[in-house]
Amino acid sequence: MSNDDHASSPAGAQAPAAVRAESGDCRWRDVPLMAYKDEGSAPFRDVSRQVLFDDTRLGCELRYFEVAPGGHSTLERHEHVHAVMILRGAGRCLVGDRVYAVAERDLVAVPPLAWHQFRADAHAPLGFLCLVNQERDRPQLPAADDLAALRRVAEVAAFIRTGDDNDA
Ligand code: MN
Repeated sequence: MSNDDHASSPAGAQAPAAVRAESGDCRWRDVPLMAYKDEGSAPFRDVSRQVLFDDTRLGCELRYFEVAPGGHSTLERHEHVHAVMILRGAGRCLVGDRVYAVAERDLVAVPPLAWHQFRADAHAPLGFLCLVNQERDRPQLPAADDLAALRRVAEVAAFIRTGDDNDA
């Protein structure tokens, strides 16, 4: 490779441009808008996913998820942790056995094996950055006895009942 070729990357490398401008509306240049998960793989509603950084040298991925008004992420848990910053809109999240109202620039820490779910308000989206390890375990979905345990806290029962389909 000559010195003139320094801008081109070797085959297979995926170095992003140094700067990828926001193209508006929490979309970024060269970042594809993806499905949150495969349809039917887990219960969720109206969530999109963008992978912003995914460099093996970091060992982690930074994703941006956006839940449309009235939508929600999957109720799940796993060994890996999430470090979340709310970037857009407003909503609520379940972490463990508590429900929290969240708004722009709030930080949310999801510890290992804590049940968690994000719900957008009815009239606002909920967009958030989520940092995770690249190597991570698969999310677990709640079984009937997990749901029964979660429902023992009234606030949690109301939260996971909203929108109906955690049992799906
Ligand atoms: Mn998760």
